[in-house]
Amino acid sequence: MPPDPFFAGPGLDRADALRADEAAIAALAARPDARELKWSDGFPELTPEGRLAWRSCESAELFLGLNGETPCFCSIEEPNDSAWSAFPLLAVLAAEEAPLFAAALSLSRWHSRHRFCANCGAATEVIRGGWSRRCPACSAEHFPRVDPVVIMIAEHDDHLLLGRQPQYPPGRYSALAGFVEVGENIEAAVARELLEEAGLEVRVVTYLASQPWPFPSSLMIGCSAQAEGRELRIDTAKLEDARWFSRPEIAAALAEGPDAPFQPPPQAAIARTLLEHWLSA
Ligand SMILES: [Zn+2]
Repeated sequence: MPPDPFFAGPGLDRADALRADEAAIAALAARPDARELKWSDGFPELTPEGRLAWRSCESAELFLGLNGETPCFCSIEEPNDSAWSAFPLLAVLAAEEAPLFAAALSLSRWHSRHRFCANCGAATEVIRGGWSRRCPACSAEHFPRVDPVVIMIAEHDDHLLLGRQPQYPPGRYSALAGFVEVGENIEAAVARELLEEAGLEVRVVTYLASQPWPFPSSLMIGCSAQAEGRELRIDTAKLEDARWFSRPEIAAALAEGPDAPFQPPPQAAIARTLLEHWLSA
């Protein structure tokens, strides 16, 4: 198995047993050691050392959990949705702080965009320490969404298929990806996306690793797939280009030297983890 991707891990004790107990959460928020995440420009604020920045607890809207004995809270913010804006932050964010960064960003964003009941349209209220919203009019309960995305490297004869989307920085190639659709399992989604975007038939889809990706609330499911051949039929509405790269080419790209044949995905992306894992196998 590959190493844990960036953002992967428990982050802190989410203390689910406390969430339903409003009095217990209020008591935690009132403690002098309770702390609340600071925000800056739509993202959790970082210290110069890449740690999450905290202040004493003021709003206590969302209960993130316990860090050891310390209660950790977060306010509902209007977040910045752009992963591109976040990349400079992710370059300095400490890996062990990344899971909590992701949880706070996705949870705060969900609350800021889901204030009304999807069933009847009434304003909903925060319950369970922020891990749910309830509609007082129709009693429907709404939970923070997680959107599964398959991201995959297709292999054929020691070559990998990588593609580039039009919004990528110049020279960047990365693993192909797409949302899992309703009624689909992971294997079917991998096969469909490779067929739709690259015209590629695959067999044997293997799960490798997963990663929360908080822009805004994806779960990236990293897989590999064995391609039946190398012929491509690229859907240019989705991909600007896709091509096969040899093992030496992938190694040179990850080394990021002057002879690199393409710019690899950034360190924080699971695509990078998948490439490094493939190269080490
Ligand atoms: Zn309702």
